[in-house]
Amino acid sequence: MKTLRIGHLYPKLLNIYGDIGNIITLKYRAEMRGIKVIINEINIGDSLSENDIYFIGGGQDLQQIEVSKELQKNKEFLTRERDRGAVFLGICGGYQLMGHYYKPHKGEILQGISLLDAYTIAGNNRFIGNVTAETDFVSPKSLVGFENHSGLTYLQGETLPLGKVIIGNGNNGTDNTEGARFKNVFGTYLHGSFLPKNPQFADFMIELAIGEKLQPLNDDIEISTHNSLVGKKY
Ligand code: GLN
Repeated sequence: MKTLRIGHLYPKLLNIYGDIGNIITLKYRAEMRGIKVIINEINIGDSLSENDIYFIGGGQDLQQIEVSKELQKNKEFLTRERDRGAVFLGICGGYQLMGHYYKPHKGEILQGISLLDAYTIAGNNRFIGNVTAETDFVSPKSLVGFENHSGLTYLQGETLPLGKVIIGNGNNGTDNTEGARFKNVFGTYLHGSFLPKNPQFADFMIELAIGEKLQPLNDDIEISTHNSLVGKKY
């Protein structure tokens, strides 16, 4: 029996808007294929061991400050994990900390861990609402979710967007990009939670992590939910 190890980074601090639903979806979809799933919760002060997938959720600026400091202790380890091919998914605040830094409205710059060549600066408006984005590497191509952030994220170098914005704001509301990807590292502003509404992306992550194709599941309900949100502004 294959085993999938999922490292859940700082769930006590970064788990806003039900981002735990992403862990629940990865666990459910892997176990439905007969894969044994081990969830390793990583909290402040914990040491890290190797995982196949790492997940970090979103949160308010205050919680990001504490996680930013803790992440610096594990930056080298997590960079080695990225470079050996571990899969990462960061949502919103967690996504921002996977870049170089997040500069909030007040106070000092929050250092990220540069898994992504990206940076974030707090904007004057808060982006709140439904998002539809379009990818070119999963099917269905659409990604749906809910955004609530003031941070404006800009991508550089070899870091590419997850997709282009169809509805909503995405990374910064100006360059029409949503999310980021580099190697097997993925970030998105989509809460909701993200993976229950985009099961194709959950399977894509699991396949990357275990190195083999998955048998399809009957996703009629998931895909009809997904499709009901595509193109939905309110
Ligand atoms: N505090 C960050 C921002 O406002 C992230 C918010 C979030 O994770 N939803 O941009």
